[in-house]
Amino acid sequence: MTSKSSSQTLIAANQPGQANAVSETIKPKWQNWSGFVTANPQMRVAPDDLDALAMVVKNAPGPIRIAGAGHSFTPLVKSEGTIVSLEKFSGLKSHQTEELLARVGAGTQIGTLAKLLHGVGQALPNMGDIDRQAFGGGLGTATHGSGIKLGAYHTQLEAIQLVDGLGAVREYAKKTDGDVINAMGASLGAFGAITEVTIRNVADYKLHRRRWTAPVAEVLDQFEQVMSAHRSAEFFYIPFSGRALMLASDISEGEPGVRPHDSDDDAVATLKTLRNYIGWFPWLRRRLIGTAIAKLPDEDYVEHWLNVYPSDRKTKFNEMEYHLPFEEGAKALRDIITLLETRFPEVYFPIEVRVVAADDVWLSPFYKRRTCSIAIHHDAAEDPLPFFAAAESIFRIYGGRPHWGKMHNLKAKDLKGIYPRWDDAMEVRRDIDPQNRFVSPYVARLLGIENAG
Ligand SMILES: Cc1cc2nc3c(=O)[nH]c(=O)nc-3n(C[C@H](O)[C@H](O)[C@H](O)COP(=O)(O)OP(=O)(O)OC[C@H]3O[C@@H](n4cnc5c(N)ncnc54)[C@H](O)[C@@H]3O)c2cc1C
Repeated sequence: MTSKSSSQTLIAANQPGQANAVSETIKPKWQNWSGFVTANPQMRVAPDDLDALAMVVKNAPGPIRIAGAGHSFTPLVKSEGTIVSLEKFSGLKSHQTEELLARVGAGTQIGTLAKLLHGVGQALPNMGDIDRQAFGGGLGTATHGSGIKLGAYHTQLEAIQLVDGLGAVREYAKKTDGDVINAMGASLGAFGAITEVTIRNVADYKLHRRRWTAPVAEVLDQFEQVMSAHRSAEFFYIPFSGRALMLASDISEGEPGVRPHDSDDDAVATLKTLRNYIGWFPWLRRRLIGTAIAKLPDEDYVEHWLNVYPSDRKTKFNEMEYHLPFEEGAKALRDIITLLETRFPEVYFPIEVRVVAADDVWLSPFYKRRTCSIAIHHDAAEDPLPFFAAAESIFRIYGGRPHWGKMHNLKAKDLKGIYPRWDDAMEVRRDIDPQNRFVSPYVARLLGIENAG
């Protein structure tokens, strides 16, 4: 059956006379940002409104998986049934100036959301490396930025509107349904289709951003101090350089200036060239990279928050990120650097190191613990799995929890052991989706759901 005829069947069977309810059926093939995950669903739809979405949930071929911007590296969105885009559930619905609250469509792209909030004097407290994801996608995998006192996006949640597995609209507020919000704050797309959220923001602000390089050994010796010295601090370790590229941002009252040209992609291209041409001479590679990095110009500018955090990531990669107890971060990073430089010299992408505040969301990798996040990347055209498998065993020794949207090999039995409120979260999930409409084979393995449709 073609996607077109599937869509027409669905509409005819349920809402006579409302053929526009599902306004279009998008070409079925789907792939994620890196191209590693592909799917051939029977249908891809972008419902116009709650009624159309409810109809899809009730009648479209399962499993139903909600897609954000497809920037996850794990097969969370993959479905051979129906992939649903909530791009039409987008925009700022309302805001409260004094309380700094905003109700927004969960399909809103984070970059668009940032501009909308800036326009009404509000701001996201923090952002990740890019702003291309849907806000609902960010909630789906506990997407985060860096900052010792700054939480992931889901810590901003005050209320959620969703369509459950039976097609009914539900509303939950933190004040009255705190447990449900905590159960599904990091949702994995398994707690219904989130259509709108109310988020608590902060007042619009400017950031003073600095970038400089430092010997990684010094950074690791003073890890706590270095990562706590700024509102937001993070660094990239450049393989074979011995140096860390430090990034720090602090609130500023200064005049906004011009953000320097984003040279991240050029730098990655240079690292790849050095790997390709002199990878067999590690001493030369080390020397050239070390010299080039020591000469990188420092950055120092003031800009509005939304123009500071995100960058472009044009060079495609696959990624694994583990969230470790903060105290284990420096030790784990030393082991990962040794692993990369001794056994996987083909890897040229920098290792990213961030910190995240503890929170109360049951499936959040930051649940009740201050975290050091270590992310490793591998060229999207090359096989990432051997390096990632070797790194994963190190991350696990240090008590790591995987980023839900980045490659890992954990299954329900492993995850249950590292999430104290796992069973409670699963109970809430069953209540929201009793017939497992949102459960794909991957989600079933991840969450330990048997007999899923
Ligand atoms: C270049 C790049 C940079 C990145 N940088 C960062 C970073 O700085 N920090 C970080 O933490 N992560 C980062 N990531 C990972 C990325 O933020 C997460 O994987 C995020 O979930 C992707 O958002 P998305 O909109 O693409 O969601 P998708 O990948 O499309 O979906 C993610 C999950 O959310 C669910 N979902 C999406 N929308 C909804 C909804 N409305 N209702 C219910 N479920 C929904 C999906 O079903 C799925 O389970 C990066 C990824 C890439 C490719």
